[in-house]
Amino acid sequence: MSKLSLAYIFRHHQLLVDENLQLPQVEKLENDLSFSSGDQVIARDLLDEEQIPEGYQLVPIRQLISSWTRAQFEQASRAVQLLEWRRNHKFCSHCGHETEVHKTEYAMVCPACGYHQYPRVQPCIITVITRGEDEILLAKNANNKSNMYGLIAGFVEVGETLEEAVSRETLEEVGLKVKNIQYLASQPWPFPSNLMLAFKAEYESGEIVLQEEEISDAQFFKFDQLPETPFSGSIAHAMIDHVINAKKMP
Ligand SMILES: [Zn+2]
Repeated sequence: MSKLSLAYIFRHHQLLVDENLQLPQVEKLENDLSFSSGDQVIARDLLDEEQIPEGYQLVPIRQLISSWTRAQFEQASRAVQLLEWRRNHKFCSHCGHETEVHKTEYAMVCPACGYHQYPRVQPCIITVITRGEDEILLAKNANNKSNMYGLIAGFVEVGETLEEAVSRETLEEVGLKVKNIQYLASQPWPFPSNLMLAFKAEYESGEIVLQEEEISDAQFFKFDQLPETPFSGSIAHAMIDHVINAKKMP
């Protein structure tokens, strides 16, 4: 009898789980991605012909963040990113030949020219900005139709330090200068393959001027008069909790 593996089975950003949000146990297939040396944990995309087993359903992985432990969510997040990376690197970016999956490393190898392609992480900064003792800057994303206010965030550009990215994004999105930029924590964020790097900073100078394609509103809110903010489990939630309630960052 063959042994079963705990399996992360995805269709896009949805994961197969039972009604208690537990993973299925399946037999490992040849192209499955191994997560542990003994193949106890594997990941793959749901095959076209594969039926969803009874009692199981596909759930968007964003929904699991508040129900699962951080370790569980991070493993799922790693699985979905590695599968997506593998799908997007079927050909050599150097010579165009079809690639092969490396036997032991997370790498796609070109049999023609030997070029190895490895998964890349995209660093993003996210910043919680305070003014005085009791005000926090929150901004509404122009693409988000809800009433939720979040934090200033953006991709790190080539050749830039993380602190420079914090200053630049804040200036671009809301026209403010910040000071005393301090690192807080990080969180892998699989939409698609980001590493969120959390900072706090203090308001230094300037009036709020919105970058309208990105931000539809931004204001300094009193700590006791906050609008709707990001959900528990997100790094933005932990950052807001950290500055307002002096909670430790996870
Ligand atoms: Zn090649």
